[in-house]
Amino acid sequence: MTTLPQKTVTGINLLHDPVLNKGTAFTDKERDALGLRGLLPPSVNTQEIQMERVLGNLRRKTSDLEKYIQLVGLQDRNETLFYRIALENLDEIMPLIYTPTVGLACQEYDHIFRRPRGLFISANDAGKIPTVLKNWHNRDVRVIVVTDGERILGLGDLSANGMGIPVGKLALYTACAGIHPSYCLPVTLDVGTENERLLTDPLYLGLRQRRIRGATYDDLIEEFVNAVQHEFPHALIQFEDFANHNAFRLLKKYRNLVCTFNDDIQGTAAVALAGLYSALRITRKPLKEQKLLFFGAGEAGTGIADLTVAGMVEEGLTETEARARCWFIDSKGLVVKSRTDLAEHKVPYAIDRPFLKDSLDIIDAMAPTALIGVSGQHGVFDETILRRAAKINDRPIVFALSNPTSKAECTAETAYRHTDGRAVFASGSPFAPVTLNGTTFVPGQGNNSYIFPGVGLGVLASQSQRVTDEMFLTAARTLAHEVGEEDLDKGRIYPPLTKIRRVSAAIALATAELAYKRGLATKLPRPANLPGYIQSQMYNPMYESYV
Ligand code: NAD
Repeated sequence: MTTLPQKTVTGINLLHDPVLNKGTAFTDKERDALGLRGLLPPSVNTQEIQMERVLGNLRRKTSDLEKYIQLVGLQDRNETLFYRIALENLDEIMPLIYTPTVGLACQEYDHIFRRPRGLFISANDAGKIPTVLKNWHNRDVRVIVVTDGERILGLGDLSANGMGIPVGKLALYTACAGIHPSYCLPVTLDVGTENERLLTDPLYLGLRQRRIRGATYDDLIEEFVNAVQHEFPHALIQFEDFANHNAFRLLKKYRNLVCTFNDDIQGTAAVALAGLYSALRITRKPLKEQKLLFFGAGEAGTGIADLTVAGMVEEGLTETEARARCWFIDSKGLVVKSRTDLAEHKVPYAIDRPFLKDSLDIIDAMAPTALIGVSGQHGVFDETILRRAAKINDRPIVFALSNPTSKAECTAETAYRHTDGRAVFASGSPFAPVTLNGTTFVPGQGNNSYIFPGVGLGVLASQSQRVTDEMFLTAARTLAHEVGEEDLDKGRIYPPLTKIRRVSAAIALATAELAYKRGLATKLPRPANLPGYIQSQMYNPMYESYV
């Protein structure tokens, strides 16, 4: 997709423009034509040589945070080179620009701050949000990732420091699905914070006040959503890392009004369900026979359960039967009907049984086939829990999805060790392969970036007016389909990241087809060759010749 602006920028301004800059790769002809002679060292480099230099520097750094800072610096100087490096080295780069390193980067955001990226909209901007959006330099915005920073990964309220999340997610939209960077807008809504460290830190960059709540908060969100419809009418809005009391409400309020979804609820659901579909190719049992025990009854957990129920219903169960196969443990214990403290989103999963507090008792009562960890609590899948799951199942499914790594319910190593290598394991943050008694297991990463970039590309390509749960169900199936037998043989239930562009294109096609089938697509007439059209929309981070 060539949406580069006219190349009227020359000289030093060209070198300072991250979209157009090619650095030492400007040819002699370009240097003469664009007023660059003398502004660069004489040698002309290929993009490959530039990559070698950047990766060499990156690999010399001893901390992941330093690597993150280097990569963000590159993104600010030369976007094309940044995306080529990200795309061709995703295994190495993704954990740096996204979880787990981005968690650390958000915690340190105010201390490592160099230059802003994205739009900061604060509670003080109420009444002026359209003006703030007008200040954004690109007028054709197609994807917005927005957070209010209240629940950044599993790290809690980081407010304005949470900007690393929309920035990182949008980098993945580009790297994984080829959505042009100029279409992407990261937004942080700074509504204050309850984080004492931030409130008292002189370096903190956000509003130094408690969070606004209630009608004032809702009005600000509504002003933002309405302003987006006006300023960027083709934009998809992805809600990200909102605390669950707002996430569910906002999704319910806006999902049928505008083109939006919540990645923590719906994206997570699709990636986890895809993992289940793949795991079932190993355990050789249908979805409708699974019994899922969720540790954590928040956005991720109930989102996964909702989509799994939809998948079970497709296999012939009634909704009630399917729901009865999903049990939840929250911070208090088993989610049961007799409890009076249940938040609205947990109620549909409250089961009609006596309350149990102890996780082992719950496992004994349920005999789950799968443990799904979405509690944000490190180590809740301890040796006793894992051994019990392995006693009940030949191949226990164990998903430790909490992010970042420090919050994972168990490590890959403990999962395999305490199940004698029988666990079908996936995690939210990446773990290295584990060798146990001579066998090497490759843990899958249930990374949302397998799903949201492809769904986003499908929505953009079809200009769908809405994002539906059915799209996420289709995305889950498509992703599982992309897992090869050779992956499953190693215990890996997600495709390798090297296949991500292919996976995203397949998900985009399935999403766009659904948009047309359901009458939601507004890109009309439908392109005759939809797969070809989607491919043509994907940005390739290769330099163009300017003269
Ligand atoms: P949330 O705050 O909405 O929910 C957390 C839930 O955990 C709550 O229901 C809470 O009661 C429960 N909980 C707390 N302590 C517990 C304990 N000891 N045992 C059982 N449950 C306990 O958060 P969320 O959005 O659902 O996210 C939860 C975790 O999942 C986070 O760490 C997040 O990073 C992770 N996540 C992973 C992925 C992924 O890997 N693809 C995607 C989204 C979220």
